[in-house]
Amino acid sequence: MGFTHDTLAQRVVFGSGIAATAVVEEVMRLGGARVMVIAGTSQAALADRVTAGLERALRWGEVRQHVPVELARRARAAAAEAGVDVVVSVGGGSTTGLAKAIAMEVDVRVVAVPTTYAGSEATDVWGLTDEGVKTTGVDGRVLPTTVVYDAELTTSLPVDLTVASGLNGLAHCVDSLWAPHADPINLAMAIEGARALAQGLPAVVADPQDVTGRERCLYGAYLAAVSFASAGSGMHHKICHVLGGAYDLPHAPTHAVVLPYVLAHNATAVPDVAGRLALALGAAPGQVEANPAQAAVDALEALRGVLDAPRGLAEVGLAESDVADAVQRALPKIPESNPVPVTEESLTVLLAAAWAGKTPTLSQSVRTKESR
Ligand code: NAD
Repeated sequence: MGFTHDTLAQRVVFGSGIAATAVVEEVMRLGGARVMVIAGTSQAALADRVTAGLERALRWGEVRQHVPVELARRARAAAAEAGVDVVVSVGGGSTTGLAKAIAMEVDVRVVAVPTTYAGSEATDVWGLTDEGVKTTGVDGRVLPTTVVYDAELTTSLPVDLTVASGLNGLAHCVDSLWAPHADPINLAMAIEGARALAQGLPAVVADPQDVTGRERCLYGAYLAAVSFASAGSGMHHKICHVLGGAYDLPHAPTHAVVLPYVLAHNATAVPDVAGRLALALGAAPGQVEANPAQAAVDALEALRGVLDAPRGLAEVGLAESDVADAVQRALPKIPESNPVPVTEESLTVLLAAAWAGKTPTLSQSVRTKESR
């Protein structure tokens, strides 16, 4: 065993019902004197409650998915003009993403209060969209200094968004298994994250107010994001970034749909990690021993069935005529290290199946270690 692993330095405060107190304590701890609060209109009331104990120098309510660059420019200018030193973001990945975009260019610390399972708060990855092209990058300045996780803030997340967002978290775990910087440490977090999400999500679907289930999901989402931040973007994320950026598809449902097809594409070539994933997702040990790749795909499909997850890209808004274009855009972005080679033909088959919501089938093309 040999690897080099960087761990990101971040403070995590986790507890249900603690957000309002914890946010004040954490902003004080950072010496924040000029606080900017970011929350989209639908999270405004929640953000008011969470930040009631703070003196707010600036409120920012405009939040958009995939952070358009012109929005980032305006938010940065407003933060600089108001002399902001701490940004508190209350919301999902889009809200956290805007706080990160500010931190890229303005000298602020970010206290992130996530209300979905997207996990952006635990990564140093930023994303910006300009004229239909989503660009992501890594920059230590964007990593929130502190994350306050409070599962009670997620009880208002509707079940369909909960499912999509949770599967977005699971996609971080799964893509970490073969991403360019996969190593035993991020693998351990990815598997534990998958286990927590596979336990938490069905509980929350059965009872959306189940705070214990929501805690499992948040814990899993955090581990998922930490593993993703360390392992990097694999094939799944490269495809989804193209779909989100070029066709403005909703982020989390797109991940929820594409994931089983990428897993089916890669699993045969990575039987050990596929087996560990399958067990984490609840597969029977005998099935895992017999065929770990199939067990992983079956376990994910079973989970998606219980959750009534979105099925096809057609359902989330992709036109069939865009599949060929998406293949051309995504193909050059797939990491060379992907365990199974990706060709124009195989990616077309994959995206056509994902578009139609067909049953994912294992790839037969396995790249051996020698041929990599
Ligand atoms: P989102 O932030 O756009 O939120 C989705 C919807 O859920 C919105 O309508 C929002 O108002 C609503 N919502 C959020 N929390 C709620 C709550 N508690 N109750 C009721 N409604 C609530 O979506 P998302 O999936 O959280 O994040 C997607 C964005 O995050 C994308 O732009 C994606 O690229 C980015 N992201 C970045 C990273 C990273 O590491 N940089 C990781 C994951 C996601």
